[in-house]
Amino acid sequence: MPPLSPQQVLLEVSACGVCRTDLHVLDGELANARYPVTPGHEIVGRVLAVGGPGVPFKLGERVGVPWLGFTCGECRYCKLKLENLCERAGFTGCTLDGGYAEHAVADARYCFAIPKRYDDEHAAPLLCAGLIGYRAYRAAGDGENLGLYGFGAAAHLLAQLARAQGRRVFAFTRRGDDAAQRFARELGAVWAGDSESAPPEELDAAILFAPIGALVPAALAATRKGGRVVCAGIHMSDIPSFPYRLLWGERTVTSVANLTRADGLEFMRVAADVDLAPAIECFALADANDALARLRGGELRGAAVLTMRGRAKTAA
Ligand SMILES: [Zn+2]
Ligand SMILES: [Zn+2]
Repeated sequence: MPPLSPQQVLLEVSACGVCRTDLHVLDGELANARYPVTPGHEIVGRVLAVGGPGVPFKLGERVGVPWLGFTCGECRYCKLKLENLCERAGFTGCTLDGGYAEHAVADARYCFAIPKRYDDEHAAPLLCAGLIGYRAYRAAGDGENLGLYGFGAAAHLLAQLARAQGRRVFAFTRRGDDAAQRFARELGAVWAGDSESAPPEELDAAILFAPIGALVPAALAATRKGGRVVCAGIHMSDIPSFPYRLLWGERTVTSVANLTRADGLEFMRVAADVDLAPAIECFALADANDALARLRGGELRGAAVLTMRGRAKTAA
């Protein structure tokens, strides 16, 4: 148990979501990751101890810990209220120890209260898939036809939100992934198909969750003039060259990086109002590698969640 600084809380972890970013950490694809590190940045836990009187959470209170774990408050980005781009940011489960653990330490200034309607396991995916997904959703603008490339943890939550807000979702999956396409239709997508195929209508915007650069020109080709293509992942394979006509017509390609605390507060308000139903598959902490392998293989329906109460399948 590390000693706490005055802003920190010690948490008993009850659940931690498994995110694609964890695979990038595992595979050494993120330049700033610190090794060894405890992965996991969708932590739900209860406060066991506080480092000082300024911490706004009480003992026993449930809190969520997201990807953004620290910012400097002094760099040009922090001063511009773009703390998601902070030069000296700390990231949970990447440069700071995360939640694949029974206990975790977090800076309370970056933790969130979680809406009561979600239990611990269902709340975990909200903390990255939901929250950074929501930042991408806002960046996509408010057009009616929204394309989601890669129908995993983030997209299945956004599809529910988009539908609740009267938008039309077009879901793109790996070629022939009938299960994911059926899942998307069950969640209200008006169309679901392979990521290389053209949707039946032009998109107003597209969000890319799949880490595949070739999807950028594919999404541009499916998007109307003036539309936006938002890359929401932290890592992507190289984007192939493509004809300028795909970008012409004031189409925009942009990325979404990390989150701000304001995003988190706004998303938690949205999640308190809209009854999101995270589809989860729970794994014991000792089975974390199983969960990661299933995520890598595209075998999950929704999100994988490690539950510290669960009994391991593989442990003796
Ligand atoms: Zn994540
Ligand atoms: Zn900063």
